Amino acid sequence: MPQTTISAYVEAVRSGRTTARQMIDVTLGAIEAANPKLNAYREVFPEEARAAADRIDERIAQGENPGPLAGAPISIKDNIATTLGRTSAGSKMLADYRSPFDATVVERLTKAGAIIVGKVQCDEFGMGSSGENCAFGPTRNPHDDRRVAGGSSSGSAAAVAAGLGLASIGSDTGGSVRLPASFCGVVGVKPTYGRVSRYGLVAYGSSLDCIGPITNSVADAATLLRIMAGHDPRDATSSTREVFDLVTEVDQPGRSIRLAVPKKARSDQNDEAVNDAFARVVDHFRESGTEIIEVDFPLADYGLATYYVLAPAEASSNLERYDGIRYGHRAEPVTGESLEELYARSRGEGFGEEVKRRIMLGTFVLSAGYHDAYYLKALKARRLIHDAFTDIFRSCDAMLTPTAAMPAFRIGERADPIHMYLCDRYTVNANIAGLCAMSLPAGMIDLDGSALPFGVQLQAPKFAESSMLRIAQQFEQSRPSMVGRGPGS
Ligand code: GLN
Repeated sequence: MPQTTISAYVEAVRSGRTTARQMIDVTLGAIEAANPKLNAYREVFPEEARAAADRIDERIAQGENPGPLAGAPISIKDNIATTLGRTSAGSKMLADYRSPFDATVVERLTKAGAIIVGKVQCDEFGMGSSGENCAFGPTRNPHDDRRVAGGSSSGSAAAVAAGLGLASIGSDTGGSVRLPASFCGVVGVKPTYGRVSRYGLVAYGSSLDCIGPITNSVADAATLLRIMAGHDPRDATSSTREVFDLVTEVDQPGRSIRLAVPKKARSDQNDEAVNDAFARVVDHFRESGTEIIEVDFPLADYGLATYYVLAPAEASSNLERYDGIRYGHRAEPVTGESLEELYARSRGEGFGEEVKRRIMLGTFVLSAGYHDAYYLKALKARRLIHDAFTDIFRSCDAMLTPTAAMPAFRIGERADPIHMYLCDRYTVNANIAGLCAMSLPAGMIDLDGSALPFGVQLQAPKFAESSMLRIAQQFEQSRPSMVGRGPGS
């Protein structure tokens, strides 16, 4: 599929240079050809997508305006509720679950003219950094199919990078939009906590969860964010703040930018190639007039430990609902078995290893006697990390770091859970503090005969999406050669 931005494509459809039906047919063909290898899509909706495209084309023919996303093929992460197909959150527990309602984001996108072409794979309940913890198999990286796509929104990032749809909607609890975006060379935005309604998102860590777009360009991310953002009475944590016209603001060149770069952003915990690539990005920002302010951010080192107490604690509580009775997989009942035994067997069969590990960890840190030592302590660390960001943002517009300490690794290479958690080193802090953040393609790294995408992360104050996207777009436009695109483009 030719890679184009959403606005260019929608313009072409609305002016009659192409039809929505044509684009959908091309997209469906591309999915059919590439998906058996990549395993980005869990399910595709060819008939519904073609019918939706025909409806859009008809409306255009009648002179109607079918909306700012007219005919744009978009995929939805498997943990976001859609009435079309299944909503399995990458888990055997929900393998056949069909949602009776659409998530608010799905409703808003569809109303704006988007066409939902399918559901895309993810780590089970969003727990993972590589896409390997998925009950329906790992997603492969379109740049090198021996490697992971990154997680947990693995299918979203791989689909966009491979041109299997113009954009995808993922979720980010500790980096799940940004990490796969960086591994696949596409743009991924985690909005401020509360900016986008979580209604219809399968809950993982409710104080951290955010829904965000994965796209080919910063402008596309802004377009989708503007449509998805805004208060929703069905999610009490969604903000009532006004949604600014992100697209217009993004296009406006601004005053000179000040970026904080933590002294430890280049460290021996990063792959050497990541340190080199990051240094080039910092130089580029400096040369193009950005003021780089080196900051000490020692608390950042506590982010991972804090996150891996808070997220499992919230997960252990959220996942209680999967008891095999009200929800999800039920083990075959055995005569004489108690209800509790049936719960235990259903959960034992339905959940994967990593999910069980998180439930045990979470239950432990919340248990009497350990609650103060772990959970409360993590809440205190959360406040300190939040306040440290507030201090830094008094004099800087945003913070720049690599998105991950490494490029995409080989499938099976990080079998040890702690080793996997280390992938989230740079991303968890934005969720802990409730900030907005994004990953931006920033060039390629040559490794073992493959050219692998490298991503940088911008973290900005709460509700500063417009200025964060403006910084990102200036970078994208000033160094188009650094901006990795899909392997086929
Ligand atoms: N990798 C992190 C985890 O496993 C973050 C995942 C996410 O953002 N959903 O919890």
